[in-house]
Amino acid sequence: MAEGAQVVIIGAGVMGTSVAYHLAARGCTDVVILEKEPAEISGSTARSAAGVRHQFSSDTNVRLSRYSIERLKHFTEEVGGYAELHQVGYLFLVNDAATWEQYRQNAAMQRELGVEVELLTPEEAARFIPHMNLDGLLGATYGPEDGYCDPYGIALGYLRRARELGVRLHRDTTVTGFELTGGKVTGVRTSNGSVGCDMVVNAAGPWAGYLAREAGLNLPVLPYRRNIYMTTPFPQIPGPIPLTIDVGSGFYMRKEGDSILMGLSNKNEPSSFNTQVDWDWLDSVLEAGLHRFPILEAAGLAESQCWAGLYEITPDSNPVLGRHPDLPNYIDISGFSGHGIMHAPAAGLLMAEEILDGRAHSINVDELRISRFGSGALSAERNVI
Ligand SMILES: Cc1cc2nc3c(=O)[nH]c(=O)nc-3n(C[C@H](O)[C@H](O)[C@H](O)COP(=O)(O)OP(=O)(O)OC[C@H]3O[C@@H](n4cnc5c(N)ncnc54)[C@H](O)[C@@H]3O)c2cc1C
Repeated sequence: MAEGAQVVIIGAGVMGTSVAYHLAARGCTDVVILEKEPAEISGSTARSAAGVRHQFSSDTNVRLSRYSIERLKHFTEEVGGYAELHQVGYLFLVNDAATWEQYRQNAAMQRELGVEVELLTPEEAARFIPHMNLDGLLGATYGPEDGYCDPYGIALGYLRRARELGVRLHRDTTVTGFELTGGKVTGVRTSNGSVGCDMVVNAAGPWAGYLAREAGLNLPVLPYRRNIYMTTPFPQIPGPIPLTIDVGSGFYMRKEGDSILMGLSNKNEPSSFNTQVDWDWLDSVLEAGLHRFPILEAAGLAESQCWAGLYEITPDSNPVLGRHPDLPNYIDISGFSGHGIMHAPAAGLLMAEEILDGRAHSINVDELRISRFGSGALSAERNVI
């Protein structure tokens, strides 16, 4: 492959395809996406729980959600394809005083930014799930505009439209290194030869941190396995229900068709690229789930429908966005720490602005730049599931 492009995007997940679409929609079509796998959209994007929510602790994340969820509502008219947004809500169940105070403050901040969010008593929250155990619960926050979507449909919609506009995609093409001249990236080395470029975007998801090292950059993004367990059809919890999180344990669930999709992050598992389902972890998931939702006792496990994927996590659970100060034609868009799908529309728009206008401007994301690391205390996103 001896070719060049104005912009080379590494990775055909929801981030790479969103950047490609937003560039092409503004007329920048000399863009190549390089994807190491034989098929696009086969990394984390295809393995998520698909939740979308406004309920974050940082106002920047709320703004990213506000913009993104509005776009997902109009995805078919604006981009084409199907985002399948189901605004069934998110319900956070809180059981300790300090966390409840924090959730109340978060709700006030979210409302100031125009988000609909309600504070519920435990009894009010109990209306969503039959026989919920209210022991120890102090309250709940409910966001009726939150819900879930189709991540594959979103990434495919972005990719199809971008390609119709002229963006090229090379599958089976692994980026192995960067060509650097005079403090700039002049091209990338791949398993199929070199590709010259004026600008490069690292949208490699869980692999982004390792890839950045090839350019001599320290990008603190690491892969961590996360498991999703599915039940057999379970009409005893009739849908729709909100995506419900027992904040004390971290257990979450929502309806997927007739079944229940559930998960719980194992925060003690070390970083790895392992994507085999962790069956040993299932006991901990069930213990947490059955405590709050004893009705799940009657559910069967659909083993063949369970899966695992990789969160791409940073030290403060916030993404890294923007040009690198030491390599100004290299752009990061990674490290979404479990909330990348829901922020992909905004992140793609902003990185297209960073490339075409010099700096992202529709939403101020300066606090998400790489420069925050090593410059004092980090302000972590607290609502990470
Ligand atoms: C179990 C689970 C549940 C989740 N739940 C949610 C949720 O409810 N809501 C939400 O918003 N987010 C959720 N996420 C997070 C979300 O899936 C990610 O943040 C998002 O998919 C990241 O997209 P991406 O494009 O950066 O990464 P990916 O989709 O992984 O795409 C990166 C691509 O880069 C390619 N690549 C990597 N290295 C190279 C290389 N050297 N050369 C060429 N190509 C390369 C990969 O093959 C891959 O296709 C979840 C994730 C998991 C695993």
